[in-house]
Amino acid sequence: MPELTDLNYLREVMSRNGFQTSKSLGQNFIINPSVCPKMAELGNAKAGFGILEIGTGVGVLTKELAKRADKVAAVELDQKLFPILEETLSEFENIRIIHGDAMKYDLKKLIAEEFQNMDVAVCANLPYYITSPLIMKLLEEKLPVKTITVMVQKEAAQRLCAPVGSRESGAVTVAVAYYGKAVKLFDVSRGSFYPAPNVDSAVIQIERYPENIWEVQNETVFFRMVRAGFSQRRKQLSGVLAGAFGISKAEMKEVFAQAGLSPSVRIEALTMQELVRLSHAVAAASA
Ligand code: SAH
Repeated sequence: MPELTDLNYLREVMSRNGFQTSKSLGQNFIINPSVCPKMAELGNAKAGFGILEIGTGVGVLTKELAKRADKVAAVELDQKLFPILEETLSEFENIRIIHGDAMKYDLKKLIAEEFQNMDVAVCANLPYYITSPLIMKLLEEKLPVKTITVMVQKEAAQRLCAPVGSRESGAVTVAVAYYGKAVKLFDVSRGSFYPAPNVDSAVIQIERYPENIWEVQNETVFFRMVRAGFSQRRKQLSGVLAGAFGISKAEMKEVFAQAGLSPSVRIEALTMQELVRLSHAVAAASA
């Protein structure tokens, strides 16, 4: 069978199945032959591992994962891709593709059912319109995964891998730092996709900490605080949090003093330790 990175074959298989890529579903398929093998290898696709993929497209990465790992389970939203996948992945017996929305799917259950007695990793070229919420979901649901290796837009990669307490950071930066460590693996130019998107991409990897390291007493308060803070990141954090938690501004100033912080500080200037400390003071005041 011809390779899916062969643009003539890709176009032929798509048109034979009456398939056209959808912008709104973030469909940009990898056609650079060096990308998927590299992603699969760095993404822990190997013996002993089950790999969860989100968004198969025509199966170009799925294939490389299935060649190397014990099993691949993937969630794909676009029903119109299924006849194509039937053809492109026909030689593999260790792939299960589920029709569904990865944002709504019970991924924990899927992992428990599909990957018994295997280590688990996520490896995917994500649909970019849901990059942050999807990564947040993967992290917050505490899925038993060792690594999350994903292709994202270059700007998103910068944000995900930024240090907490830097201007490039965001709510997702804090979430990533809370659960693990993110590093950029390699850049991927826009010409590596069909159709080519307007931006370059990068593959990043989040390595999950095996256990919690931050000793946050109340995760709900911590993440509510982080979300509220970054939604108005240029404002003074104490004012933003007073509104978000229904506490008077005067009282919130005292909360900040208790945490050893200036009430005029912005969230993007705080380190992880400072955020944790502040969340304890906020939780105590809003209890
Ligand atoms: N992995 C493939 C395709 C990447 S494009 C490749 O690298 O070539 C992103 C894929 O995600 C598309 O196939 C799109 O249909 C799918 N997708 C978009 N939104 C989704 C969602 N909410 N849940 C699952 N898959 C989704």
